[in-house]
Amino acid sequence: MAPVTQSSYVSDPSKLDLDLTRLPKLVVPKRYELKIDAYPDKCQYSGTVNIRVFFNGQGISIVWLHSVRLTIQEASIRFSSFSLPVKASEIISVPSKECIGIKFSCPIENGERAWLSIRFKGKISNGLEGFFSNPYVNKQGEKCLGAATMFAATEARTCFPCFDEPEFKAVFALEITVAPHLTTISNMPIMDTKTERLKNGQVRKTDYFEWTREMSTYLVCFVIGEYEYLETKTRDGRVVVRVYTPWGQREQGRFGLDVGRKSLEFFNDYFGRRYPLPKMDLVALSRLSVGAMENWGVITCRETGLITDLDKANPATLQSIATLIAHEISHQWFGNLVTMKWWDGLYLNEGFATLMQYMCIDSIYPEFRVFDRFCSDTVIPALGMDALQHSHPIEMPLENTSGISQMFDKITYCKGASVMFMLHEFIGADNFKNAIQEYMHQFSYDNATTEDLWHYLSVASGKNVDEIMLPWIRELGFPLVQVQYKFRDGAAFLELFQERFAGTSHHLRPTIWSIPLKGVYVNNRNELVTFEVLFDKSSIEIQLKDFDVTDPKCWVKLNPRLSGFYRVQYGETLFKKISDNLSNEHLTAIDRMSIFEDQVAMVLSEGGSSIRVLQMVAIFKDFETNAMVWKSVCRILQQFRTLTWSNEDLANSFEEFCLQTLRPVLDNLGYHVKSNETHNDTLLRSVLFTRLADLGDQNVQALAKDMFQQHIDETFLIPRGMKEAVFRAVMETATQTTFQQMLMLYRNYELAEDRVGVLHALGCAQDPNILSQALNFAVSPEVQPQESITVLIAASSTRHGHKMMWQFFTLNLDVILERYLGGLFLLGKLLRSVCECFTDHDSFREVEAFFAQNMYKFQGEEHLVEQAREHVELNVHWRDKDSANVQYFLESYFNA
Ligand SMILES: [Zn+2]
Repeated sequence: MAPVTQSSYVSDPSKLDLDLTRLPKLVVPKRYELKIDAYPDKCQYSGTVNIRVFFNGQGISIVWLHSVRLTIQEASIRFSSFSLPVKASEIISVPSKECIGIKFSCPIENGERAWLSIRFKGKISNGLEGFFSNPYVNKQGEKCLGAATMFAATEARTCFPCFDEPEFKAVFALEITVAPHLTTISNMPIMDTKTERLKNGQVRKTDYFEWTREMSTYLVCFVIGEYEYLETKTRDGRVVVRVYTPWGQREQGRFGLDVGRKSLEFFNDYFGRRYPLPKMDLVALSRLSVGAMENWGVITCRETGLITDLDKANPATLQSIATLIAHEISHQWFGNLVTMKWWDGLYLNEGFATLMQYMCIDSIYPEFRVFDRFCSDTVIPALGMDALQHSHPIEMPLENTSGISQMFDKITYCKGASVMFMLHEFIGADNFKNAIQEYMHQFSYDNATTEDLWHYLSVASGKNVDEIMLPWIRELGFPLVQVQYKFRDGAAFLELFQERFAGTSHHLRPTIWSIPLKGVYVNNRNELVTFEVLFDKSSIEIQLKDFDVTDPKCWVKLNPRLSGFYRVQYGETLFKKISDNLSNEHLTAIDRMSIFEDQVAMVLSEGGSSIRVLQMVAIFKDFETNAMVWKSVCRILQQFRTLTWSNEDLANSFEEFCLQTLRPVLDNLGYHVKSNETHNDTLLRSVLFTRLADLGDQNVQALAKDMFQQHIDETFLIPRGMKEAVFRAVMETATQTTFQQMLMLYRNYELAEDRVGVLHALGCAQDPNILSQALNFAVSPEVQPQESITVLIAASSTRHGHKMMWQFFTLNLDVILERYLGGLFLLGKLLRSVCECFTDHDSFREVEAFFAQNMYKFQGEEHLVEQAREHVELNVHWRDKDSANVQYFLESYFNA
């Protein structure tokens, strides 16, 4: 009889003679056979994992691997198919390192190969990570519980014992046993299914999946539930693409299916290697902490990220779905086929995929003009966040896993993509693509580091990419380029200086970046001239030919198309020239947006005043029609509004300025959707309508009420792109009846997209009693955590709601943290928005005191609190320095 396995706990890992921060490389996994027997309705499962391991060291008696919150029932090892399994003598558990050590009584020789078998039990969690519950509605309309997995970054270990680091790539064969009516989906196709009747009469079905290719544990995935699907194949007929949707929503998956197939075909060409798996599934889940997850061969998405009604959808929704899917599909190569060695290289995966999502969609749906969105949704937010003292370098040493969640932020995704785009523009699209293809070829089914990528980019371009990129990725922050006009010896010059953009990070040491600087100017013959230089010292001069500063048509713009990750500050003369020529045909919408955003950023640092910003807004009123520019203007006007809220007169006067600015633009565009209008016009109407409603515009509110009533009576279909805007407008002045009608809509809507639209509107209620009901509804079990956050964020942003939302946040902190802590992006978004509208000293003190008292509750996410706190600090600073300027501007505007 074999001895009973002992188990022991090590609470202080420093007593071990090895550091388990990273697993020792002495035992290497090659294959996993993973069997899961799941009861999603009871939130329970049991499993067996057989791992083929190679031993790389002498006399190993303990096999260390990851396992968290699992009950290990038995572990054994078998050296050949002829030998008997040897039972483990002890299971050592080291919870603080999320590891277990499986000890064998006799040491194992170097070079041995064996099958390690572990039997275990676990719980399907109620959270959003690991192996978690996923509610769905079945064909009969009944609410049921399914389950799904989300293993990034280090959650595979909470589902099954494994070597849970990206570098331990192995192949996987999965067997999943469930009740026979359930569908299972995993990385590979099902090759066989068997059903059996258990002794207790229960019937169980086992799906056997094909072996995967070599891959990292965080990309393993399986989903259990009841779904419908649509199917197509790639042009070459090699890959089956499916979209799995809840019952009754199959047709709303068609756009996602189309994007999935076209993206696969685009990346087959771009990477110069065909997608290696036989199928690509996209599955819509009712609960997921992130927008989507790139598991190899089975991308999981939130319902809002995959399902939409193509005929009624807002163009913004279509763009979001398209870019999200393209992002995850690009990961199938960059991330899945070639994987970062360790999580400190996450920005390589995420920055690259973020850039690629735009390149791909720009190529397959050029009418979406997604590069405008790249600037507004990626480059500008990254510049904003990287100006904070509590930002971080894109790449930083990451010694242990507790810091990994901090890497999932705008710096990793958006700054990563922005500096990658800068490099793309600097070395040229062809060189960039050739280097990526070579890198893919070299590291397929393997892992790589940043240095590896820089090496191939250097070889392809003949430029020293390594050296150029160093400060961009290893330093916090980015440069400010100051540019002055100089006239000397009969010639015109630009004089350029670079320094760190200050924000609040004055204490940081000076850095010189190698800036791939581009510029354009119009000369006195009305020709557009471009120039390009690697700006790698503290100052340089550039000569402008045939440039006459007194000629009204001459102007200069640095950083055209916002292809460089830096801010530009123009001297007085140059700023006057460019603001006089804002409507010039050679300035793109991105250029206008970037000039505007640079001015705004300058206000927050020492060098600028709000007057310039508001003057630009007044100029845009007369000619601007681009939706992205107005989106940016509206966001900034909203930020300015918050400065005025503590002074009733100033606040009213500022709102009047906003109304007078935005109203004529909507008047020109028209309040009703025209047939065959451009995406831009539909988007623009939605942006202006929402903002005008928020400002209390009577016409907009009356029209919205009318549309809403007809929508409730089912006599009118709210047009494309207008639903959310109408709902918000109505909620601003909602009565109890309207609120109940909204709840009814929420409960009746099948599409998650529609439900989220209602939630957004709920947070806009001005009546404190109704807002309070809306907030309580948001955190009730009826609303999924990733969706409820929209109510809280909306409430935080309104003049009437933000203080009440703060109170709600402080009183319900524990409930809120339980929902969002560990949910990757959710908590950061929420923290930032609850603080965003505070601009006075008293509020700052209150925010500081509250966080100081409760910091211990934010373990592992303290940096998010610091970032939110710093935002308030910046606001207070801005208000002190600039509210007199805002007042001065408004007086002269209204008296002009
Ligand atoms: Zn990604």
